[in-house]
Amino acid sequence: MQKIEHIGIAVKNLEQSNSLFKKLLGQEHYKTEEVKTESVITSFFRTGQSKIELLQATDETSAIHKYVEKYGEGVHHIAFAVTDIYQEMERLEKQGFQLLNKEPKRGADNKLVCFVHPKSANGVLVELCQEISE
Ligand code: ZN
Repeated sequence: MQKIEHIGIAVKNLEQSNSLFKKLLGQEHYKTEEVKTESVITSFFRTGQSKIELLQATDETSAIHKYVEKYGEGVHHIAFAVTDIYQEMERLEKQGFQLLNKEPKRGADNKLVCFVHPKSANGVLVELCQEISE
């Protein structure tokens, strides 16, 4: 795996959190994107080589909604950039990690993504993400 691509943070109110993180990071978010298949709306901030992704649920079926209900707002996942997501998924599966999706799916920010179950990674929800080249 390469660098930490981004850290995902679950929030209740994206607008309020955008202004909070603007103050914290000293810059505006550079994009907002809705991922309808995941029922989330996201915004991204640049922090050097990595990014901060804020995620707000758009309905109650969203994993982010369930997360916030259970744990409150906070760090939700850590995403690592990979060059070949299929190869990494195979490697991790062989190592005994439990993948949450069998096939990579399309995530926010033009990425193919796959999640590793936190139960198999010391309680950390890990995201693999590969830039989609078009
Ligand atoms: Zn993410």
